[in-house]
Amino acid sequence: MPLIVQKYGGTSVGSTERIMAVAKKIILAKSQGNDVIVVVSAMSGETNRLVALAKEISDPPNAREFDVLLSTGEQVTISLLSMALEAQGCPARSYTGGQVRILTDSTHNKARILDIDNQRIRTDLEQGKVVVVAGFQGVDDNANITTLGRGGSDTTAVALAAALKADECQIYTDVDGVYTTDPRVVSNARRLEQICFEEMLEMASLGSKVLQIRSVEFASKYNVPLRVLSSFEDGPGTLITIENNKMEKALISGIAFNRDEAKLTLLGVEDRPGIAAHILAPIAEANVEVDMIIQNKSADNTTDFTFTVHRNDYAKALNILHDLTPELGVREILGDDRIVKISLVGVGMRSHAGIASTMFKTLADEGINIQMISTSEIKISVIVDEKYLELGVRTLHAAFDLAMVRTV
Ligand code: ASP
Ligand code: MG
Repeated sequence: MPLIVQKYGGTSVGSTERIMAVAKKIILAKSQGNDVIVVVSAMSGETNRLVALAKEISDPPNAREFDVLLSTGEQVTISLLSMALEAQGCPARSYTGGQVRILTDSTHNKARILDIDNQRIRTDLEQGKVVVVAGFQGVDDNANITTLGRGGSDTTAVALAAALKADECQIYTDVDGVYTTDPRVVSNARRLEQICFEEMLEMASLGSKVLQIRSVEFASKYNVPLRVLSSFEDGPGTLITIENNKMEKALISGIAFNRDEAKLTLLGVEDRPGIAAHILAPIAEANVEVDMIIQNKSADNTTDFTFTVHRNDYAKALNILHDLTPELGVREILGDDRIVKISLVGVGMRSHAGIASTMFKTLADEGINIQMISTSEIKISVIVDEKYLELGVRTLHAAFDLAMVRTV
C-alpha cells in the first residue's frame, strides 16, 4: 500500500471545526488506499502564546524548560485530531515525539533529528490505524524533550517520510503551492506544478517562507518527494522533487525577494592581506550573519569594502565597525538599511547565457539602480533601493514571462 505522510500547519488545525475538516481529508486519503501518517503543528497562535508566557517569567527562558513548554502545543493537536478521527470511525493513535522516539541531539530550541524508531508506527499502520505524530519535537538520549526550531513540524514530517520510505510527503498549509513570486506583489504570479529541491532552497532562503528550509534540505538529502498543498481548497499544489525532464524547462522558475536587508560600507580601507578577515571576524563573533560581500581594488592602495546583513543586525554591525575604525584607518563608514534583495532563481540558467544582462537591462529601463550583484549557478541577486522592490519584481516577472508556462 502506498504510504503518505501529511503535515497540517497551525492554521489548518486552528479550531475544532478545522480539526474535524482535517480528519475528513485524512479519511479520504485512507479510503483511496493509502497508509497515512499525520504530523501536526500547534493550533495557530499557540506557540507564540507559550513563548510570550515564558518571557513574562524570564527572558531568555531556560532552554530546557522552554522546550518542555513549547512541546505542549503539538500535544494538544495530536490528541484532538485522533479523537476527531476516531469519532468519524477511523482508528487512530497519537504519539508525542518522545513516544515515537524521534531521537535528536541536545541542542535545545533548535535540535537536529538523529534517528527515528519506526517500530510502533509500523505496527499501527499494519493494524489499519492512522498514526498522528506531534511535529516540532523529539527527545535527546537522556530523554530530555527537545524542539526543532520554529516551523520545525515540516522537518518532522519529512524526517518521518524519509525514515519510513513514504511515497510522498504532503505539506498542507494556507497557500495552495509555490508561486513564481509572491502573489501579493505580482497579481498574475503563477503556481508552479513542479520545482526542484535546489530551486526551492533558493526560493525558501530568499524569503518565500512556505517551508522550513531545513525540511527542504532533508527532503533533498533523502530524496523524499514533497508536495505543498492548501488545506482549504482542493488542488494539486506544487511538487518539489529532484530535477527531472518532466519539469517545465523554464529558464527562470521564480523571483524571490527579501525586504530585511541592510548594507554597510567602509571607505578607504588599507589594502593588505588580512583586512577582510579583520573586518568580518568581530561581526561573526557577534553572531551577525553576512550575506553579500564586495571589495574593490583601487589605485591608491586603499579599497572600499561593502557587505550586507539582516536589517535587525544593522545597528549592531555599525557599532562594531565604528569600534574598528581606529585600527583600520578607515576614511568613512556608510550604511543603508533601506535596501532589498531581488533574486532570479532557476536551474535553466546553468545552460543559458545572457540572463544576467537581460535582468540588468530590464531594471535599467525602469531607472532602477543596481547597488550590488551576486551570482551562483542557479541564481542572480541584486540589491536595490527598497522603493523599487515592487516595481523591480513586477517588471522582471513580466520580462521573463513568468505568468506563462514557457519552455526553452
Ligand atoms: N508550532 C511550531 C511553530 O509555531 C512548529 C511548527 O508549527 O512547525 O513554530
Ligand atoms: Mg509552518
